Amino acid sequence: LQQKNINVEKLFESILTSDTTSLSKGITLIESTQPNHIQKSQQLVEKCLPHANQSLRIGITGVPGVGKSTFIEALGNTLIEKGKKVAVLAVDPSSTISKGSILGDKTRMESLVKSPKAFIRPSPSGKSLGGVAQKTRESIILCEAAGYDVIIIETVGVGQSETAVHSMVDFFLLLKLAGAGDELQGIKRGIIEMADAIVINKADGDNEIRARKAKNQFQKALHLYPLGQNNWSPEVLTCSALENKGIQEIWNIILKYVDITSKSGFFEKNRIQQNQYWLLQTIEEQLKSNFYNHPKVKSTLDEQIEAVQQHKITPFTAARYLLNLQKDQ
Ligand code: GDP
Repeated sequence: LQQKNINVEKLFESILTSDTTSLSKGITLIESTQPNHIQKSQQLVEKCLPHANQSLRIGITGVPGVGKSTFIEALGNTLIEKGKKVAVLAVDPSSTISKGSILGDKTRMESLVKSPKAFIRPSPSGKSLGGVAQKTRESIILCEAAGYDVIIIETVGVGQSETAVHSMVDFFLLLKLAGAGDELQGIKRGIIEMADAIVINKADGDNEIRARKAKNQFQKALHLYPLGQNNWSPEVLTCSALENKGIQEIWNIILKYVDITSKSGFFEKNRIQQNQYWLLQTIEEQLKSNFYNHPKVKSTLDEQIEAVQQHKITPFTAARYLLNLQKDQ
């Protein structure tokens, strides 16, 4: 990263003019772990903040192969045709290990990549989901300051990353495939409760009838779930991302959601709640990392674990001892 003498003010000014090179630079700064970069990136995010908050943030999840990138490309192009600017970010903490499983591959979203109205950025790398998610949250602010109207956050349908993305978006969309029968088999309850829409993709060719059946099953099953705070009953739709069918209908549902929740006040309330959640999350992350990185804790942790395993001390005594170590500087 050639950013020794970064001028935050200049970078900020050119991000405001929607310069994508500067936007990329800004995000690289956010993703950097160098101490002087961390300070500058905070200054940059703070400068951008008053210009942020204007976009619509959409989360998209689904297992690998369900068609996320094809879908994002179809939706992105539809939105660009409507004159919107679209940014696509990703949250994939596994990308450090698997060397960028989402958005890393240049062949994905080929036409969207070429559009001057789209900005696509792979997942930041990082060991902890909290760290990766925080960087993405800050990147959202930069994208918004750069004038992107719709921010799409992609994540893989595994682990906690769905919860993290759900808590940074306004609308959360779950992509599914028509299965072999019981559609709710193998689907986590938590994810159903997070979804504002379930979209059954690949509803084309021979698959169309199965997709429609799956849609009916989901609709029936969703009736059993109580409405959430947003008073919105999740919609179930089918689409073919590949053939660009059903995309407009999905966008209409998203707009309907925005309209209803804006009028009820939930839209704004949700963003405020999300900010509070991130405040507390960031504190927890920081406390944890301070604790585990404390030199005394680092050098004693294994010993204490072993002592607990050998029943020499209780876990509580060991925990108290380790927590106290942190107090001596
Ligand atoms: P991701 O891993 O979830 O991002 O999935 P991709 O978008 O890479 O799609 C996986 C495969 O499914 C690719 O070969 C796509 O061409 C194909 N695919 C995606 N959407 C559709 C669709 O709507 N219909 C059909 N028939 N194939 C699709």
